[in-house]
Amino acid sequence: MKKIIQQLQPYIPEKPLEQLKQELGLKKLVRLSANENPYGTSPTVKEAVLNWNYDQSNRYPDGDATELRGLISKKFELDPEQIVFGVGLDEVIVMLSRVFLSPGDVEMVSTPTFSEYALHAEIEQANITKVPVLASGQIDFAGMLQAITDATKLIWICNPNNPTGTIETVADIEKFVAKVPDDVMVLVDEAYIDFASEPNATAMSLTKKYPNIVVMRTFSKAYGLANFRVGYAVFPQDVGENVQKVRLPYNVNSVAQVAATAAFKDTEFVADVVKKNDFERELWEEFFEKEKIKYYPSQANFVFFEYPDANKLADYLLHNGYLLRTGLQKNWLRLTVGTKTDNEELRNLIYSYK
Ligand SMILES: *Cc1c(COP(=O)(O)O)cnc(C)c1O
Repeated sequence: MKKIIQQLQPYIPEKPLEQLKQELGLKKLVRLSANENPYGTSPTVKEAVLNWNYDQSNRYPDGDATELRGLISKKFELDPEQIVFGVGLDEVIVMLSRVFLSPGDVEMVSTPTFSEYALHAEIEQANITKVPVLASGQIDFAGMLQAITDATKLIWICNPNNPTGTIETVADIEKFVAKVPDDVMVLVDEAYIDFASEPNATAMSLTKKYPNIVVMRTFSKAYGLANFRVGYAVFPQDVGENVQKVRLPYNVNSVAQVAATAAFKDTEFVADVVKKNDFERELWEEFFEKEKIKYYPSQANFVFFEYPDANKLADYLLHNGYLLRTGLQKNWLRLTVGTKTDNEELRNLIYSYK
């Protein structure tokens, strides 16, 4: 076995909720640790999935995801060939690492950020340069530019950033990309962009202007399709063609394609989710202000906050029915903005915790 695999710290997926509930002897357990959609999934998705023709089960799916590709390229005014689909955005991260990183190359990340970027760089035996965020939580673009060397091949920009929730403007991202050498790819992960207050926050249009920017999206968060595993990346034209070469030909199954297509069409559902999230996120920020708990202003569906002995608080909350994300940064917790009732109950628990 490769040494690197034996040394690897794997990504630990969430335990099935029912199993965790049983282990802890809980009647109620709400998962607010994985940034899933607390409002479920559009009812039009259920209808589309139930109407899927089961008799096609023996046939391979459409390897091009033609209908979904058409819808997405039309909405964002892209060339259909610019899009590459993955089994979740997770698989897109794997493909990008595979295409761009050779052993000894360098991938740059802003820290803290989503751990999978570094994990897959390690699998490719690349080295990782970490540039800490500024005190405000914003990305240190100047610091990143300075840290670029001949070995740098990829730079990840998670926007809004997981776990801080902070956002960078398209103007700032464009200024950055314009200064990055053309042979260094800037990867913009927009998993949470739907939750941003600014409606034109996406860097998608830059993929037509620069040869070295990639913009990624997922159906797992605002669209509520985490179980179906559909994500995609938008590339400058000729780059996409090459990334397609490493994609497994039938990676996204038909049911997932049908679900994502229906979800993408139901703009009303997403708009409603975003509106509710906006309102609830604001209440969380007011609460943290009032309680003098340090947090980063979020443009996503989660809030990252600091608490003394945070793991103990998380344990108390878990035994009272709420699972938060621990272990991302010492004494910081990330909570997914939940439904009105759950948020109120969780705030009461934090308030009364001593
Ligand atoms: C959730 C998440 C993903 C992965 O999304 P999937 O499409 O479910 O694989 C990618 N990037 C970030 C920043 C995420 O938080």
